[in-house]
Amino acid sequence: MRAFQRVVVLGSTGSIGESTLDVIARHPDRLAVYALSAYSRMERLAEQAQACRAAVVVVPDEAARKKFTAAWAGGQPMPEIRVGAQALADTAADPHCDSVMAAIVGAAGLPAALAAARSGKRVLLANKEALVAAGSLFMQAIRDNGAELLPIDSEHNAIFQCLPHGGRAQAPDAPAPGVRRLLLTASGGPFRGRDLEDLHDVTPAQACAHPNWSMGRKISVDSATMLNKGLEVIEAHWLFAMPADRIEVVVHPQSVVHSMVEYDDGSVLAQLGQPDMRTPIAYGLGFPERLESGVGPLDLTRLGRLDFEKPDLARFPCLALSFAALRAGQSACVALNAANEIAVDAFLGGRLAYTWIPRVIEASLEWQARQASVTLSSLDDVLALDAEARIFAGNLGLA
Ligand code: NAD
Ligand code: MG
Repeated sequence: MRAFQRVVVLGSTGSIGESTLDVIARHPDRLAVYALSAYSRMERLAEQAQACRAAVVVVPDEAARKKFTAAWAGGQPMPEIRVGAQALADTAADPHCDSVMAAIVGAAGLPAALAAARSGKRVLLANKEALVAAGSLFMQAIRDNGAELLPIDSEHNAIFQCLPHGGRAQAPDAPAPGVRRLLLTASGGPFRGRDLEDLHDVTPAQACAHPNWSMGRKISVDSATMLNKGLEVIEAHWLFAMPADRIEVVVHPQSVVHSMVEYDDGSVLAQLGQPDMRTPIAYGLGFPERLESGVGPLDLTRLGRLDFEKPDLARFPCLALSFAALRAGQSACVALNAANEIAVDAFLGGRLAYTWIPRVIEASLEWQARQASVTLSSLDDVLALDAEARIFAGNLGLA
């Protein structure tokens, strides 16, 4: 581990952001916060910045700056306040920081995550949508700039832990030798045993009530539809340079085995632990050393059993749509992610029935397949297609 790391936490007021600050606060001798960012909840951002003595905060606009200033309790000097999306990307590349936790939700986090990669930081990547939308660009930026990439999504963190890496967190351009398959575990979410037809009237509160994990609202809905697992298949493809047909999803309701790697000799290595994101976060911050994270021991005898089953693609069409997008290519992945963000936002806002989420995604993938093929060779190319796909999904009558 580097002697002392100064960390930027992008999306600090979210679920991953809060867990990251909890781990950092346990290690004042090795870790310090340089900057925090949030999009809303300025009062919480001010409390966090006071508690961890952040030098910088990044807020979205002037109204947020005013709220932050009003919420500042005094006592300590106020941090420098930077405003807007460009300031967010500049802060992720700030020479005063070593590591960047990318924990903004959605493709909105892509420019800042990419800026961190381009400036050669240690990137702790929770923001899976960034990889889904721009996997090839992002991985190339990590490779070209000597950045380190630590997957924070629990499944990918588990796989990373089970792969040979020689204590170096680099971006591979081919599957690790000797690996047959990656086995991604999925809890199945709150509606695992339910039929799709029964779910028409599901409310946002029901969809967000995950049986094992406490998370932000968007990823909670994604877990209910299993689109989250689909995004994670695409994420695994990029992180580990693994073809789609060597990535398998296994439903595991207890969320204790976080994922597995199967080798050519038949060995299967798994990483287990309590469902608490502080474990992968501490792993990313401490790598290659292990840090105390606040997560207690795993009592397997109390758990008694671990179950595994095949995912039901008929009841979870979002999973099949994600595999289809991965096989179709990068533009389809951009459309899949953008359509899902629009559909989930509409569902959470009471404007779309739960069962329409896969329909919006499917229609958007069909729309994308009808478009002339475009090359996504820059961030602007990706953002332009993302914006177009959002307009298409929004015009389906839901935005
Ligand atoms: P969350 O909704 O709890 O927090 C999101 C954070 O991003 C907040 O700080 C919010 O202010 C900020 N934000 C939202 N929109 C923004 C925008 N347009 N511009 C800038 N900032 C914005 O989300 P979360 O559950 O912490 O998830 C964050 C990311 O981590 C997601 O990509 C999610 O898929 C991934 N992830 C989360 C978990 C988990 O357990 N929560 C697990 C694995 C991966
Ligand atoms: Mg996950």
